[in-house]
Amino acid sequence: MLSARRIDLIVIHCSATPNGRWVAPADIDAWHRERGFHRADEARRSYNPDLTAIGYHWLILPNGGRPSGRHPFEIGAHARDRRANHRGLGLCLIGTDRFSRPAWEALADQVQFLCDKYRVPRRFAQQSNDWTGVCGHRDLGAPKACPGFPVAEWLAGGLEPLAGHILESA
Ligand SMILES: [Zn+2]
Repeated sequence: MLSARRIDLIVIHCSATPNGRWVAPADIDAWHRERGFHRADEARRSYNPDLTAIGYHWLILPNGGRPSGRHPFEIGAHARDRRANHRGLGLCLIGTDRFSRPAWEALADQVQFLCDKYRVPRRFAQQSNDWTGVCGHRDLGAPKACPGFPVAEWLAGGLEPLAGHILESA
């Protein structure tokens, strides 16, 4: 059994794969395995045993599916900062900077659900090296574009799909 941990941060990522291209949890798992990530055996035994490495807690797929990766009580591997991993949940949108409407809906729904469940404030607060709330990977100071859109703007806009970041189906 995994013991509960305090969660006060939700970090949104993107997979940095071509917009609209399908990526499965097993793909992310393989890439993270190549990068040397590793899930604890105990956690793996009790949750998603086929995933050996994946660092995120959920993926948000182009069709709006949101398969789980690590268990919410399992410490993630998705941010450079140790504290962000210890107290955070990592969500990963598939794509680079444009996401389908089903993906935007799934992201909004999942973030609202998690904020309610773990009482995470639906805004971002930073005090020196301490973060709480909802943010994008790049908001943690990572020298990356991830997740490819400004999360603060998305929060301020009521979790509606952001103009300029919507992938319309062909
Ligand atoms: Zn990221």
